[in-house]
Amino acid sequence: MTPSGLCIIGSGYSAAALLLHLEARGAKMDGVTVIGPQALGTGQAFGCVNDDFRLNVRAELMQVWPDDPGHFANWAATNIAGDREADTDVGAFYRRRDFASYIASEIRARPALASLPHIKASAVNISASGDGWDIELDDGSTTGASRIVLATGNPPPVWPFREQIADTPSLVRVPWLGDWPENIDGGARIVVIGSGLTALDAIHTLRHRQHHGGITLVAPDGMLPPVQTGWRDADALEWPQDVRASGFLKFMRDTVGDIPWEDTEWQRRFESLRYHISAAWQRLDAADQGRLMRRFGWLWSLARFRAGPQAFGSAQMLLDTGQLDIVTDMVTGITTTSGGVHDVGLATGARLSADAVINCSGAGRDPLITRILDNGTAARHQTVSHRPAMTSELALIRADGTPHGNMFGIGPMTSHVAGDVLGSASIARQARGLAARLVQ
Ligand SMILES: Cc1cc2nc3c(=O)[nH]c(=O)nc-3n(C[C@H](O)[C@H](O)[C@H](O)COP(=O)(O)OP(=O)(O)OC[C@H]3O[C@@H](n4cnc5c(N)ncnc54)[C@H](O)[C@@H]3O)c2cc1C
Repeated sequence: MTPSGLCIIGSGYSAAALLLHLEARGAKMDGVTVIGPQALGTGQAFGCVNDDFRLNVRAELMQVWPDDPGHFANWAATNIAGDREADTDVGAFYRRRDFASYIASEIRARPALASLPHIKASAVNISASGDGWDIELDDGSTTGASRIVLATGNPPPVWPFREQIADTPSLVRVPWLGDWPENIDGGARIVVIGSGLTALDAIHTLRHRQHHGGITLVAPDGMLPPVQTGWRDADALEWPQDVRASGFLKFMRDTVGDIPWEDTEWQRRFESLRYHISAAWQRLDAADQGRLMRRFGWLWSLARFRAGPQAFGSAQMLLDTGQLDIVTDMVTGITTTSGGVHDVGLATGARLSADAVINCSGAGRDPLITRILDNGTAARHQTVSHRPAMTSELALIRADGTPHGNMFGIGPMTSHVAGDVLGSASIARQARGLAARLVQ
């Protein structure tokens, strides 16, 4: 197979951001191909169809152009009409699908990108072929590429227990698209697994639909994310150079101080840590990274992923009325009776009866990455063994420890090595850097 050039596997926001930055650098787009089942720029995050699912940061922080941070906010102010719920005291929080429309308009405005070949399929395997790669697709065909960028993003969630169960309209394993509430009766007893931003999205849309059945949220820490504040002017803090895990943690603690995390000032200080955290993270050795992730990863996630005011307000309202209950526990399995009632088992031995269960426990494992690690195309990361070992330049590493010169990664699939590259702005900065290296 003759390699055609650069192939981006995945068609979500990371892929779109990389293409936009390649085009902005004047890269030749002949021979660039995208593979992915969804429209370019949508993906798991922004391809959602539910108008109640909103961006969880204010418009100014949704950035594809690091040098023009207000670009989306300005676009939204001009192009989004009649969304009375968007404006809040701490900024405008638009619908998630509005950001996909914005990215689509950025792509449409660039003819070289608008006409790119896009193979609407999923890649299931990658194998070496001469100096390039053969990419096997789920429709049985194979395509070639001389260089690959993996932009496979957030893998669809699985149930957070070993025995997987079949999806049904009332057993919602992947809630991100937001297409499930219409299948749920207004009086259904609902169990929500997890207490992060996806759980708040679920609660918000249920409240909007005047759901009147009881909602029980089950999560190991039993804590809801804090709400976004109106922080401004966070200076980018320089991290200390030669620290181990304890020094890394101490720097964070000293920076945020004793202020309650609900406060605007706490978030301002926290945000000032985030600008250079990826570089600081990459200076830690793998053992220290693993130690920090195991002990404090959950706390970082809780502080980092703040809820939009709309979803947070809905959860508070339902807690106040008693319709929403939080149980500190872990779901260990679900069985369904012949009458269609779901019996939800918990780690403490308690059981809950539910008419519907919504899995908001987070992303699953990436099947393509699992495959290329299993077949030795890429080496495993030292401590996060289900993810690939990568250089700081985002190249995947071969089994012999040398970097692949023609296989790279971008976006959430790099966060175990690159740190906090999960939001639109940090992915955009990463895309800008990778585009510069690919053009060279
Ligand atoms: C539910 C949710 C809400 C979020 N909300 C926000 C927000 O409000 N603000 C913010 O800044 N960030 C948000 N994020 C963070 C988000 O991860 C990033 O902003 C961004 O969407 C990541 O883009 P991506 O393209 O890497 O991943 P994804 O959006 O997950 O897209 C990956 C794409 O690749 C495709 N794909 C996967 N595997 C293959 C394969 N083997 N072959 C071909 N295609 C494949 C998938 O089908 C998907 O279309 C959210 C994330 C999630 C999951």
